[in-house]
Amino acid sequence: MSDNERIQRLERLLEVSRNLSASLDLEPFLQSVLSVASELTNSEVASILEVKDDEQLRFLAVPWFHRESLQTVSVPIETSVAGWVYRNAKPAVVADVAAEPRHFKGVDRVAQFETRSIMAVPIVYKGEALGVLETVNKVNQANYTEEDLIILETLASQVAVAMQNGRLMSHVRKAVDEVDHLDRMKSDFIAVASHELRTPLGLILGHSTFLREVIQTEYQPQLDTIVRNAMRLKEIIDNIANMDNVERGVASVRRRTVSIRKVAQEVLENFSAEVQKKRISLQADLGKDELMIEGDASKIATALTNLVKNAILFSDAGGHIFVIAEQIPGYVKVSVIDDGIGIPTKDLGRIFERFYQVESHLTRKHGGMGLGLSVAKVMIEMHGGRIWAESVEGKGSNFTFILPLDSGQADAAKRVFAS
Ligand code: ADP
Repeated sequence: MSDNERIQRLERLLEVSRNLSASLDLEPFLQSVLSVASELTNSEVASILEVKDDEQLRFLAVPWFHRESLQTVSVPIETSVAGWVYRNAKPAVVADVAAEPRHFKGVDRVAQFETRSIMAVPIVYKGEALGVLETVNKVNQANYTEEDLIILETLASQVAVAMQNGRLMSHVRKAVDEVDHLDRMKSDFIAVASHELRTPLGLILGHSTFLREVIQTEYQPQLDTIVRNAMRLKEIIDNIANMDNVERGVASVRRRTVSIRKVAQEVLENFSAEVQKKRISLQADLGKDELMIEGDASKIATALTNLVKNAILFSDAGGHIFVIAEQIPGYVKVSVIDDGIGIPTKDLGRIFERFYQVESHLTRKHGGMGLGLSVAKVMIEMHGGRIWAESVEGKGSNFTFILPLDSGQADAAKRVFAS
């Protein structure tokens, strides 16, 4: 063989390795291996067999003209050359199959083919035999050479990597399908459960609020407790349902002209009794302007409510909370500042994640599900706004969000933040 021919062969082998790294698609890669294998070893055909349940070999890749006939054929491991190669993880070269007792004649019968000589090598990945690569009928009745064997073994090692990639891909696909399925189940459960819980809860809240108003007895504290806790339950259910709506893509922003000043006043009003009881000072500087934007008042109120609620929850008696709303170029900016327990730096980057809580759920002193901030974040981001937190542990926290003034700007901002 001339040097030129040798270089050409190496180039063909190199091409196969390039194909291997270029694509995750198994079938075209295996076909390219078959054509290079038969071309470089001067064989009539080549094929790849894969082991199934450690009991039999099945054709994983054959030339197109044998595809239909060999698709369902299985080759017994105990009584075939390929089976011997697979079991012993060693190559085999059979110059004349007529004199070879291990030869399995079933394949020739089905494919209407006549096998005269075989060269077969194991396909091994990290010590595990996956199958067999073989070439059949060296042309001109010639014998397979040492060089042919090296070529086939080189190709088999590439096939091993491709088959392993294929296996991993199918595991990944299965796992992704499973996760999708579980996610759908979770979503359905949340939708059904939150819907089913809302109706009785609405009745409990309605009737207990009514009773609290009409009954002026020593049972007032008990009624207060019922109303307060039913409200808490409602908030939890609303937060879960809100998150799920966003995830399922059914949440939308109903834009109207909204005064952020008014939204903030209403939210703060709702907390007046609570801060009084906890002896926390809640002050606001909402400026003089109405701070008009195009947005969804109830979603913005939910976001601000969750921030103020946390500020109260994570402040001790005697603490101070400031809510500041102001216009900055292109945006309205709202900050909720407290001098409460603060957030450790290591947690600060994760507090907006769903279900993330700084204290462990089992040992925590405070209630909550770790959903308040993630809900606030999606509510603000749905408006094309942004939310962030600054905090020093032991000193306090500052949560700020900005909302674009008009909806055109909001859509543009949403695209930028999403990308
Ligand atoms: P939760 O509903 O459990 O409070 P959030 O999503 O609202 O969950 O908040 C996540 C975590 O961030 C809280 O568990 C708390 O540890 C921390 N956090 C949020 N706001 C504050 C705050 N103002 N001060 C201190 N820690 C806070």
